[in-house]
Amino acid sequence: MTEFNTKLVHGQPQNDNNTGAVNVPIYNSSTYIYPSVESKVKYDYARSGNPTRNYLEEQVSELEDGYRGFAFSSGSAAIHAVLAIFKPGDHLIIGKEIYGGTFRIINEFFKRWQIQFTAVDTQDPAEIEAAIRSNTKAIYFESFTNPLLHVTSVRKTAEVAQKHHLLTIVDNTFLSPYLQRPLDLGADIVIHSATKYLSGHSDVIAGMVVAKNQSLADRIYFNQNAIGSTLSPEDSNLVRRGIQTLAVRMDRHLSNAQKIVEFLQSRSEIAKIYYPGIAGTKDHEIAAQETDGFGGIVSFELQKGLDTTKFVEGTKVIQLAVSLGAVESLIELPYKMTHAELSPQEQQKAGITHQLVRLSVGIEDDKDLIKDLADSLDSLHIK
Ligand SMILES: *Cc1c(COP(=O)(O)O)cnc(C)c1O
Repeated sequence: MTEFNTKLVHGQPQNDNNTGAVNVPIYNSSTYIYPSVESKVKYDYARSGNPTRNYLEEQVSELEDGYRGFAFSSGSAAIHAVLAIFKPGDHLIIGKEIYGGTFRIINEFFKRWQIQFTAVDTQDPAEIEAAIRSNTKAIYFESFTNPLLHVTSVRKTAEVAQKHHLLTIVDNTFLSPYLQRPLDLGADIVIHSATKYLSGHSDVIAGMVVAKNQSLADRIYFNQNAIGSTLSPEDSNLVRRGIQTLAVRMDRHLSNAQKIVEFLQSRSEIAKIYYPGIAGTKDHEIAAQETDGFGGIVSFELQKGLDTTKFVEGTKVIQLAVSLGAVESLIELPYKMTHAELSPQEQQKAGITHQLVRLSVGIEDDKDLIKDLADSLDSLHIK
């Protein structure tokens, strides 16, 4: 069919358009007419299926090279629907640096349903293999972790999984299908917080799942329809609209991130930068092989003694807020904000120091972003 960037702009026509509208309509109908009692209708009730949502689901499935896609009311709801395909007594291996909300749903919800978990460093296939038990069913990880941007090889992990007949589940939020397509690298299920890059404008909470084959899709569809955490038609439309500009936004995120990394490298206030685009690390090596770009998130540590709170409160174009992946640049302190739920000991173990800053690089003019960072760094020297 068409190339990736064209697929972003044009999803599958829904064959329900008598008006010539170039966009799929927002179908605000909870129920649909049966021409007769015996009719086999495509749509009967909107939790089970809605044309606006289906457009988005088919499109993201195509972008991820999957069999079928599903849209949820949040990334967390998407993760819940995927993990709910397992049953009591099943064991899953998870990345030890996964999104905090995912860890919470595993630790405080799924454990109550007798699903067992072992957290490992998924960058090391040997560590994954050593954690496999007779009841292990899947490996779940994020290919780029938050906030330290550790990179796991989807290909190598999927090889281990296939050898032991396990599913490989990848949260691809940080990269988006523009930069990585995990199913092509051997994964079975891809998850997105579409709140981030897919929608890209900080104006919707949404989640997506794409399954590689029909049997997985049937299990996920059962959960989507039965549990009912579906994405509304209005929000489906917002994600659809965001996706149309994914390629142009990502290109700018990437070039701005690269320029900001170069700026940070030139400043003596910066002790360490975490960005897979920087050569010389295992993270870079894997990302260079398996992605089409190193993403728009840059984390870094200020030198000891410099006031990180003053620094993140001091930027003006770059706003102090959690979340990521949108057109505007956002900065935050993981130890106080996104990762505040971890105990001081857990933070220390995870490498989340009080000097660590996470920056979600937006699509503004790079000169403004760099001046903003420079001004705030300069202000740290004024007592
Ligand atoms: C934000 C995020 C989630 C959760 O998604 P919500 O849409 O906030 O529910 C899951 N995984 C990753 C990697 C995220 O960044």
